[in-house]
Amino acid sequence: MARPKTTPNFSAADKERMRELVRFTAQTLSTPHPSPFGALIVSTRTGKPLIRAVNAVAREHDAASHAELRAVRLAGKKLKGPLLAGYTLYSTCEPCPMCMANALWARLDRVVYGATIDDANRYCLQIHIPATEVARRADMSCIVQGPFLRQECNTLFDDPRMQKAFRTWSTSKSNGKR
Ligand SMILES: [Zn+2]
Repeated sequence: MARPKTTPNFSAADKERMRELVRFTAQTLSTPHPSPFGALIVSTRTGKPLIRAVNAVAREHDAASHAELRAVRLAGKKLKGPLLAGYTLYSTCEPCPMCMANALWARLDRVVYGATIDDANRYCLQIHIPATEVARRADMSCIVQGPFLRQECNTLFDDPRMQKAFRTWSTSKSNGKR
């Protein structure tokens, strides 16, 4: 059967990079600051990795220190410029509106995400605007594709160490702090 036109094409390289990002992000699970949110930026053309980052809201005392936003910030510093045209961002979770807007401001070519905002919302507070919707309403263009390897990315959220850590998060749905 022919694929519906809306099904994005993911390459073997996409799979490899997302799996590597899941492994990288999983390393945080055995640290004092576990996070299921990881981001990787690579050259769209060559696939060469530029930077990767995990969520550091608690560590940096910064509500905006989401993985994707940090990756874009670090990439800009590394390239000594604010524009990331020619680069692709992988994220273990669908970027929130803040991170997706930042990806558009940075002019990333493409964003590939794993789990969805709804998946993350099982445990953390979220802003319910899909990344595709943010991109659709922007003057800048960015290809947004996902969910991809959703189940593998969700293993990060479902890990018992993460479940324990979520209870201490400022955005946790279970600790009553809103
Ligand atoms: Zn975000």
